[in-house]
Amino acid sequence: MSDTNTLAIVPRAATLDKITALCKRRGFVFQGSDIYGGLKGTWDLGPLGVALNNNIKREWWNMFVDGREDMYGLDASILMNAKVWEASGHTGNFSDPLVEDTETGERYRADHLLKDNGIEAEGLSLEQIDSLILEKGIKSPKGNPLSQARQFNMMFESTIGATAGPEGKVYLRPETAQGIFVNFKNVVDTMSPKLPFGIGQIGKAFRNEIAPREFLFRVREFEQMEIEYFVREGEWEVEFEKWHLNLWDWFDHLGLSRGNVRELEVPENDLAHYSKRTIDFEYNYPGKGFDELAGFAYRTNHDLQAHMKASGKSLEYVEANGTKLVPHVIEPSFGVGRALTAVLCEAYREDTLGDSDDVRTYLKLPNHLAPYLACVSPLLKNKPELVAKARTVFTLLKKEFTNITWDDNGNVGKRYRRQDEIGTPYCIVIDFDTLGENPDLLDMVTIRHRDSGEQERVAISDIASRLK
Ligand code: ATP
Repeated sequence: MSDTNTLAIVPRAATLDKITALCKRRGFVFQGSDIYGGLKGTWDLGPLGVALNNNIKREWWNMFVDGREDMYGLDASILMNAKVWEASGHTGNFSDPLVEDTETGERYRADHLLKDNGIEAEGLSLEQIDSLILEKGIKSPKGNPLSQARQFNMMFESTIGATAGPEGKVYLRPETAQGIFVNFKNVVDTMSPKLPFGIGQIGKAFRNEIAPREFLFRVREFEQMEIEYFVREGEWEVEFEKWHLNLWDWFDHLGLSRGNVRELEVPENDLAHYSKRTIDFEYNYPGKGFDELAGFAYRTNHDLQAHMKASGKSLEYVEANGTKLVPHVIEPSFGVGRALTAVLCEAYREDTLGDSDDVRTYLKLPNHLAPYLACVSPLLKNKPELVAKARTVFTLLKKEFTNITWDDNGNVGKRYRRQDEIGTPYCIVIDFDTLGENPDLLDMVTIRHRDSGEQERVAISDIASRLK
């Protein structure tokens, strides 16, 4: 069982292609509707992907909802009254500029094509986009001329009930945030929160992206983790700064290195009309460069005001002294898929161990995110006495941690490689010494550490505390 001496870690060995391949090979993420040739912009989480995804969401919920006194949880419906989206402005404005390849009919985001040609297209009008395309001679990626740009609304439409008609029109929500705003009064009435306070929600969102791409980065169905933090107008700057630091704590907790996360202060002329300050947090996706990981905005009280006007219901908050106000809001908004992608990019490593020239791939995941905390196995699977002892250890740990796996396939070296590749921090092996062949080592197992390959002997009764 010699498997020591980590050598030569190759920095940033990750590419999105390698990660996509590993995810498919090891059961993290599969193409959606795979056996039918896939469905663009959709991905399915496999057994390990769902474990990693759930771990990210649990940690987020613990840090931002359960771990705080001033936060309340919510789980609103995906289908909402169409009036919500009229009031929020999504029906009219939630669109991206689209251009078509005039020969193949393929659609592209005009602002992305401009960006690929070194032109920052944020906030440009359709006319400006058209003239830039003309002026710079920009063609489709297939080399064909492009159509004029037009706005394309990204909301997925459906109909509710048995009869089709405008009154049955619904949208799959393009963000979870509006579910929070429309429940503001419900939460205030039932929980009597004191300002400042926030509501957090994790849930699916749907956007009919013109060109889904880059693995989970831009997809049509994804999960968001969003917070609306309600404040008095005069305190928004102070609270904004506190959340600013909280966001960095979160990225640290995900194990993202500071050098791979950066802030992009959205310039004043690019801010949405209701936002006084927005910071995009970007991650350095290998091979792609920095792009959005999470958004962080001060949205004034625009949304509550809009819903108050459209619904005719008061969304005012009444202070202890009787003063009424419509709170302002700070919004940290995270995509789960982008967090998962960043975590995998950060964790992906290739190195060699010992004298071997073999390159191993491993995921250096933080323990609290790894799909399995430990893998238990008998040294040999055809020795019933080893298997029985290993089973006892497995059952013991499974009760305490749940995310413990069993692996008795192949030889122990191959098991280590398999567990390394899925990021399992510890492999626990039961051998003949555990059974007392060497009396000094009776009831002691080998714990092998993923990153260093180092091994130590630990008493069965101490394993649990060793893994914590
Ligand atoms: P982008 O500019 O990249 O399209 P956005 O600014 O429209 O993103 P927001 O509306 O601020 O995104 O959504 C909040 C978060 O939701 C984003 O930071 C991102 O993590 C996630 N997100 C948004 N759109 C997608 C998508 N199509 N696929 C995966 N995640 C997404």
